[in-house]
Amino acid sequence: MADLCPADMRDRLLKLREDLESLAAMSEQASQIVELDQTRVGRLSRMDALQAQAMAKEFSRRRELMLRQIAGALARVENGEYGICQSCDDPIHEKRLEFDPTTLLCVQCAERAEKSG
Ligand SMILES: [Zn+2]
Repeated sequence: MADLCPADMRDRLLKLREDLESLAAMSEQASQIVELDQTRVGRLSRMDALQAQAMAKEFSRRRELMLRQIAGALARVENGEYGICQSCDDPIHEKRLEFDPTTLLCVQCAERAEKSG
């Protein structure tokens, strides 16, 4: 854990949030393009438009969830709890945090949670 610098993790989390926000802007543009295309090619693309709409909805739902997780992780950086398993208070492995900076559980607890639910 000594190698994991809280300031670095905060930077990573902020970067992650930035990426999410620019991705959202891009997908908004993309859905506007879909709407334009739809008027051009007519009724055939109605299904496509509906599908794109559903995908955009799912994407924004997932984005909201991730933004909440990032905000939670940032709060834990602030109060010094970042990188500590919420279930057993053991340090979370650095590699695991690198893979998912918003994770709340150590490997053992995450595996147990997966099996039980
Ligand atoms: Zn744990």
